[in-house]
Amino acid sequence: MTESSAEERVEDATRLEGRHAVVTGGGRGIGAAIALELARRGARVSILGRDKGVLDRQAKDIMRESNAEVVAVSCDVTDELSVVEALATARSAFGTVQILVNNAGQAESASLVETSLELWSRLIASNLTGTFLCSRSVLPEMTAADDGRIVNIASTSALKGYARLSAYTAAKHGVLGFTRSLAAEVAKTGVTVNAVCPGYTDTGMAVAAVEKLVSAGRKVDEARVLIAKSNPRGTLIAPDEVASVVAWLCSPAARSVSGQAIVVAGGDVRS
Ligand code: NDP
Repeated sequence: MTESSAEERVEDATRLEGRHAVVTGGGRGIGAAIALELARRGARVSILGRDKGVLDRQAKDIMRESNAEVVAVSCDVTDELSVVEALATARSAFGTVQILVNNAGQAESASLVETSLELWSRLIASNLTGTFLCSRSVLPEMTAADDGRIVNIASTSALKGYARLSAYTAAKHGVLGFTRSLAAEVAKTGVTVNAVCPGYTDTGMAVAAVEKLVSAGRKVDEARVLIAKSNPRGTLIAPDEVASVVAWLCSPAARSVSGQAIVVAGGDVRS
């Protein structure tokens, strides 16, 4: 085999031409990086979220940077009707869905006694129920085609209990349990289901975590170091580091990888 044909073969196995990818929470942060990476690899991408203005601007940026087709669709992933309608809109733009990235989520730290029922319910709904609703909506078309990829953005909080994060940790452990169960359910089909577990990543969510520590009396620099230190590498993860792992899981190259939790934290958080 010549050098160039070997390169083409490697490239082909991670390309996503002709695939329709749906990325929830694709308007900013990790979701925006994932949408861009999938678009660069040739997918047509529907980005979903509650803020249509943010989504529209992000869709334009991704189209400019990737030359791919991108559509912005309003969706609250915690609302069953909203999910059904958003996916119908996405399908009318780009056809059946082959890739779903359940990235939308919310985080907030609080001690258990400070955790209101509203906070508990909101974190379970946005992180876990949204993953269930979106997955259930696309699974029939994936199993019918014997072809599909579902990637759930969990967290290192899916594998480890961090203090003052019980609602978020419970939700993300739930996302991982859901991932493993659904992967087993569809194991005999061409559909794979995996979780990606980032450590603290450089997005608005990490900024909010720093602000919370500052409001509790920490200095800004000290708070930043504390957040980064929770990753074994000691630095924040970049959103595109998460995106490249997700894109590989979505590719033909990863067709035999399912039911896995892939940690992107610069080390093993369980050791
Ligand atoms: P951001 O806060 O930057 O983005 C969150 C995204 O989720 C936004 O696009 C937001 O859009 C969307 N979203 C939130 N609630 C809903 C909802 N009910 N319906 C639809 N969309 C919703 O966070 P990140 O990019 O950092 O986080 C992305 C994912 O990665 C989350 O699941 C998070 O838990 C996970 N994660 C993040 C880490 C970090 O340190 N940043 C570490 C580990 C995991 P909108 O508000 O417009 O609806």
